[in-house]
Amino acid sequence: MQILTDQSLDLDQFMIGLKRRNPGEREFHQAVYEVAEKLIPFINQHPKYARAKVLERLTEPDRIIIFRVCWEDDQKNVRVNRGYRVQFNNAIGPYKGGLRFDKSVTLSILKFLGFEQIFKNSLTTLPMGGGKGGSDFNPKDKSDAEVMRFCQAFMTELSRHIGKDKDVPAGDIGVGAREIGYLYGQYKRLENEFGGVLTGKGLAYGGSLIRTEATGFGCVYFAREMLDTKGDAAEGKTCIVSGSGNVAQYTAQKLLDLGAKVVSMSDRTGSIHDPDGLTQEKMNYVIELKTGRRGSLREYADAFGVSFLEGARPWGIPCDMAFPCATQNELNGDDAKTLLANGCMLVSEGANMPSTLDAVKAFEDAKILYAPGKASNAGGVSISGLEMTQNSMRINWPREEVDRRLQAIMHDIHAQCVEYGQDDGFVNYVKGANIGGFVKVADAMLAYGVV
Ligand code: NDP
Repeated sequence: MQILTDQSLDLDQFMIGLKRRNPGEREFHQAVYEVAEKLIPFINQHPKYARAKVLERLTEPDRIIIFRVCWEDDQKNVRVNRGYRVQFNNAIGPYKGGLRFDKSVTLSILKFLGFEQIFKNSLTTLPMGGGKGGSDFNPKDKSDAEVMRFCQAFMTELSRHIGKDKDVPAGDIGVGAREIGYLYGQYKRLENEFGGVLTGKGLAYGGSLIRTEATGFGCVYFAREMLDTKGDAAEGKTCIVSGSGNVAQYTAQKLLDLGAKVVSMSDRTGSIHDPDGLTQEKMNYVIELKTGRRGSLREYADAFGVSFLEGARPWGIPCDMAFPCATQNELNGDDAKTLLANGCMLVSEGANMPSTLDAVKAFEDAKILYAPGKASNAGGVSISGLEMTQNSMRINWPREEVDRRLQAIMHDIHAQCVEYGQDDGFVNYVKGANIGGFVKVADAMLAYGVV
């Protein structure tokens, strides 16, 4: 039963205040709305959180660092970019969250990502707070030497604000193994310290086995948990995966391992439609094309004689299960209706906030198995957390051990969603993930008093 007091929160009023304080930050508003819509009824049932203004405090970052990044391109031109680190909340552990290098990066995008990260990291059951950072630098059209000079300049400033017990960045869009190597090399040079200050490191210098695969594998492990609640399995199901970067590649790989059929992947240039499904040979081709050569999927279509949907996203291709693994807001309300009309019964998000609010609503109304990214893509940060553990212990766990722990964590995240997401006999995973992620952080904040 909901007991309304004069401390109770009202969603519309709350959002008006948030938008006034953060004008023009569309993605941040969207991420907060999705959480607040589910949390406010819960908070109003537990007035201790409303009295302590926990939601108001949670939506205000601890601090935001913005800095200039100057570097020289190969023609000796001086280039200027903007760097950011949003240290959102460290109630349950050091700030933790990736760095995104992409020309689309804005403060709004990094605030939405940092905010989501608080809940995701809490759900992993590991002691990690939420943060995110990055730059409007686009590594795609740069030489290795230019990327190295940019990373060194970026880290020269960022190094003042991070530390293995303070803030531990990782990769995200545009920040893969190459960038992490350059960033870590510069940190080590500046601080004369070899520790776990970044995750996603190479295996030669403190990385964890399975970290590269973890987000994608975890996304499929989460889907497997959802299917299990219906006595169903992935084997034989037709799947589409958007994106073809780190998360998409290992989502597709794990789907292949489980006997599912992956008929589409995508990138910024368009989508492939391969009705026979990817094989291991084709999967290896995608990894070499996208990670090795940084080419377009058009080459895949030419190499294997399948159709290429120029500039299109893959949601019109009929499937049983969809895995959005590219970027935010890549799946809108109309796309969701198309997926549902084609019989899609499960959506597991590898990307952060890939579905618009309309799309989320359509999935909720249809009561399909729909997992928001903060639950289903938490495998990556989970193994980042285990990379920190291994660095502190100065040991490396074998592949099987890390994979076993990843599966156990995804199982636990699913269990929290089921515990908090009950809705008239149906599990609403958005509600479950938001409330499940909130409780531990909120209780820690209450314990600290007004800080
Ligand atoms: P990558 O840079 O490795 O890959 C991103 C992929 O998405 C690429 O195929 C890229 O196309 C495509 N893409 C990016 N922007 C757009 C766009 N505007 N329109 C169409 N396609 C686009 O990034 P990740 O795989 O690491 O990240 C993907 C998503 O997963 C992001 O939302 C990220 O925040 C989230 N995530 C990542 C984690 C990780 O461990 N890496 C952990 C948790 C979440 P192209 O190849 O043409 O550039």
